[in-house]
Amino acid sequence: MADVMVVGGGVTGLAAAYELEKLGVDYTLIEVKGRLGGSVVSERRDGFVLDGGPFVLHRTREWPFLAELGLEEAVAPVAKLADGSDLVTFKDGTQTLTDALVQRLQTGRILTRMAVSTIGQVENRYAICMENGMMMEAAALIICAPARFAERMFYTFQPEISLRLLKFHYDTITRVSLGYRAEAVTLPLEAPPDPGFAFGRWTNEPHRVPPGHVLLQIGVRFPLNKTTPEQMVEELTRTMGWPSDPVVSRVDYWPESHSLSPYTDEHDTLMTEIEALLPGGVALAGNDYRARLFEDRVLHGQAAARQIAAWMGQDA
Ligand SMILES: Cc1cc2nc3c(=O)[nH]c(=O)nc-3n(C[C@H](O)[C@H](O)[C@H](O)COP(=O)(O)OP(=O)(O)OC[C@H]3O[C@@H](n4cnc5c(N)ncnc54)[C@H](O)[C@@H]3O)c2cc1C
Repeated sequence: MADVMVVGGGVTGLAAAYELEKLGVDYTLIEVKGRLGGSVVSERRDGFVLDGGPFVLHRTREWPFLAELGLEEAVAPVAKLADGSDLVTFKDGTQTLTDALVQRLQTGRILTRMAVSTIGQVENRYAICMENGMMMEAAALIICAPARFAERMFYTFQPEISLRLLKFHYDTITRVSLGYRAEAVTLPLEAPPDPGFAFGRWTNEPHRVPPGHVLLQIGVRFPLNKTTPEQMVEELTRTMGWPSDPVVSRVDYWPESHSLSPYTDEHDTLMTEIEALLPGGVALAGNDYRARLFEDRVLHGQAAARQIAAWMGQDA
């Protein structure tokens, strides 16, 4: 039996596991996909750094985890906002951070391609049922999966939590990265014909883009009609009036990864209700809950691990 089961191997779950590792708490991390990192994914290709998920990150305070992970030089400023806070990128892509977290996970068990389906309680232990029918037990749980999945986990065990998690809603986003020779596109980018259609940014940051080139990074807010990455690039470039032959392109389709609920007025109340209903030894952390900024997800994952470790100490 693991002391703590961490569900979800995105940046929040990895940060929680890393904190448990530092605290010397036994843990198992379960991730449904074959890779760790969740919506953080980066690739270096033909001299370009292509981020398929988050890439421009809002930094409002010091990030102590950078020094701990040896990444002080890994981040570059992009812009300063009016309130004095920074926008930054990881020079080699945001996956630099999740890769560094994964490397620090030495003592726990990491199980990928395993989905948690439901949770329950047997005496003072949590019983965790996997989609493949396997059962596992843990003394405590940190759930770092989005609400739409966590809702199913709580469905039979704590229906009142499940009902509240059902209220969370999401946006579809397609991240398209297009690398061009600089002379091929007119900068700055023109606004999209339909403001609801896309947002875009261009960069020629030297750590991200080879000399003489630019990288367009676009978030398309509703599904493009076509199904293959090539067709999506063709449709987007035609709509935007850009050349259809970028030197490099990458398309990442995220049907439900952009959580809208944390931006609503009722979210804090809902979270307070959910947290009051959570049984002892269960924490919810990450994107959908109380972590609006990227930095909050790391800090929230770590805080959840400390909270659970303290609860286990009291319980022992
Ligand atoms: C295209 C895109 C751009 C974004 N841009 C930004 C940005 O610029 N700034 C920003 O702050 N945020 C951004 N986000 C939000 C982004 O999701 C977060 O920043 C962060 O990566 C979320 O981390 P997380 O670990 O909380 O969740 P996730 O990355 O969603 O990780 C959750 C993990 O749980 C796993 N999982 C789900 N169900 C189960 C189950 N039943 N059993 C086991 N595992 C399960 C999933 O496979 C996933 O790996 C963006 C998201 C997307 C998709």
